[in-house]
Amino acid sequence: MPARPSFPSLLAPLRLGAHTLRNRTLMGSMHTGIERLDRSTERLSAFYAERARGGAGLMVTGGFAMNEAAKLDEHGPILVSEAEADALRPIPQAVHAAGGKILLQVLHTGRYGKTPALVGASNIPSPINRRVPRPLETAEVWQTIDDYARCAELAMRAGFDGVEIMGSEGYFLNQFAALRCNNRTDEFGGSVENRHRVAVEAVRRTRERLGPAALIMYRISALDLVEGGAPADEVIALARSVEAAGADVINTGFGWHEARIPTIAYMVPRAAFRFAAARIKQALKIPLILSNRINTPEVAEEIIASGDADMVSMARPFLADAAFVNKAAAGRPDAINTCIACNQACLDFIFTSQPTSCLVNPRAGRELEFDEMPPSRGRRRVAVVGAGAAGLACAVTAAQRGHAVELFEAGGEIGGQLNLARAVPGKEEFNEMLRYFRAGVADGGVAVRLNRRPAADELARGDYDHVVVATGVRPRVPDIPGLDHPKVIGYADLLAGRRKAGRRVAVIGAGGIGFDVAEYLLHEESEPAQHNGHAAIGEVGGFFREWGVSTSAEAPGGLAQPVAPRPLRTVTLLQRKPEKPGRTLGLSTGWALRARLEQRGLQTLSGCTYERIDDAGLHLRIKGELQLLEVDTVVVCAGQESENALAAQLRDLGVAPVVIGGADLAAELDALRAIDQGTRLAMTF
Ligand code: NAP
Ligand code: SF4
Repeated sequence: MPARPSFPSLLAPLRLGAHTLRNRTLMGSMHTGIERLDRSTERLSAFYAERARGGAGLMVTGGFAMNEAAKLDEHGPILVSEAEADALRPIPQAVHAAGGKILLQVLHTGRYGKTPALVGASNIPSPINRRVPRPLETAEVWQTIDDYARCAELAMRAGFDGVEIMGSEGYFLNQFAALRCNNRTDEFGGSVENRHRVAVEAVRRTRERLGPAALIMYRISALDLVEGGAPADEVIALARSVEAAGADVINTGFGWHEARIPTIAYMVPRAAFRFAAARIKQALKIPLILSNRINTPEVAEEIIASGDADMVSMARPFLADAAFVNKAAAGRPDAINTCIACNQACLDFIFTSQPTSCLVNPRAGRELEFDEMPPSRGRRRVAVVGAGAAGLACAVTAAQRGHAVELFEAGGEIGGQLNLARAVPGKEEFNEMLRYFRAGVADGGVAVRLNRRPAADELARGDYDHVVVATGVRPRVPDIPGLDHPKVIGYADLLAGRRKAGRRVAVIGAGGIGFDVAEYLLHEESEPAQHNGHAAIGEVGGFFREWGVSTSAEAPGGLAQPVAPRPLRTVTLLQRKPEKPGRTLGLSTGWALRARLEQRGLQTLSGCTYERIDDAGLHLRIKGELQLLEVDTVVVCAGQESENALAAQLRDLGVAPVVIGGADLAAELDALRAIDQGTRLAMTF
């Protein structure tokens, strides 16, 4: 009997207008920041072509402005001239040569722009942009509509298969559609039809200019998640009008950029917003694409098989693994490097003006740089000591390059600190990272030696070409009297489940781990049956209650009153620095973590001097004033120190080890730096 095909719904072809896609995966649009680098077209061509080779059914570029006022910022991508179109030609060419299809996204940022000449539907500024937009004159709006079509025409000249017209995330077209920021009295304000006119006319004129061969996708805001956002009937009316105006397919977006509800961060359950997409799909004849927090082929397959959507958009998962589709098709979903929704090297890089990459895949966005590294000089014998993030990345990459790798781990399982991260509620995606490493280790024939601490002389005698010390970190032990009191717990013992916390807890240290520990402690609720607010994978209801998302079609913007959870414990998070805790958290995820913990009653104290710990609790001083925190448990999260004694012992024996990860530098160590360092090192073997 022939084997059952893997993921039959996901991998089935799909007809979109005049085009047939080879499968139902879309690599959604992402700002890459690569446009700003030298050799940008070459880099972008390599980036997209790699994903086309990896099997993506369709891709969309980052947003291109259709006129000066539409730009993201002064240097943002723009497509307004034939010369600019011609310069882009290598990108679709490379994608087509690799068997893929690609659309160019036409984007007007409206009041989100960081340009001096900001324009919008009205002069109502966005809460996330201090600049006040100038309301466009009626004639200027018609001109802008024309600019959409002109930009699309230029995209076709460049060789793209069509365009995505960006109508979600709170950009220009949303700003016209929603009463929140449209107070116009001309033909673009007032009635629903008027507020939708600019979007509908942009699609209509684009279709008129491009003819039937071009693929036109419209990205709709299926849920605005802001006050004054559109109710479901308006969203559905817009989808129908856009369909009638000539769109071949509708893609979805969830939440404006100014929304205070996370929509893509790790704490969002997978495919959480599918209910809103399914609602639109029922009203349409053309296919509909579901986006946001879809990161495995299993989830994607289930969505399509259920009929909630015809296709799935996965943007970051294609950063994490360009060969996502090929691996799924080959029946190897376990070998997919899964996006863990951390945002650390994609969105957070973009927010700090760095080109996008990926925490789990440092090659992403740097394809040329990696390809230009020297080829391997033959099969080498490599010993990697320590199977945390750095050691695993090094061992797996070295094995993929054909080297014989031995991986030593002192513990009984691989993962190191990753095993602590995955214990934190909402960070279950770290399990996928470990699954990927397990598959990589097995596929590469890495010899894994668990419960082994190889001595330096054993390694010296081992005749290895490379010895890598990735022995990680040990928790810093602060100098506080009473630290040996039974109520004191190290964060590793707590997260590993070796020790339990009482009801009243103080957490010393408000770095990333301090916040993770607070999340862990505040997760357990006194009345879990009533409103289990923990937003783990699949627990969509709890997530919606906690953040205030309504599934009712009547709710404007899809908002509801959040229901505050009732945690079992009280937690106070402390630091010595005078500033507000949480500064080091991720730019695009930290705000959500802080908001969630605040809702759960987290107290924070800055400027602390720790005096002592005793039966009464934690004694500390703030601004010279003595205070007592009456707590049952004190959890210490005071950072780490490098565990690298092995390296010195090796050097004494004349071996020159390479030290990576926390063993190299403990300060601000995280998986991003560890994986990057381990991967890059293995590329030099
Ligand atoms: P960290 O970010 O360096 O924070 C250590 C904390 O301990 C600080 O709040 C520090 O604040 C305090 N501290 C340092 N020395 C101390 C001492 N001698 N006595 C008392 N307090 C002391 O380290 P971490 O929290 O262990 O995190 C490790 C790495 O993992 C970081 O890079 C972190 O960003 C990353 N990580 C990130 C996340 C996330 O972004 N969600 C989650 C987990 C881990 P004061 O000096 O002001 O007291
Ligand atoms: Fe996903 Fe994190 Fe990579 Fe971004 S950096 S693509 S969120 S794994």
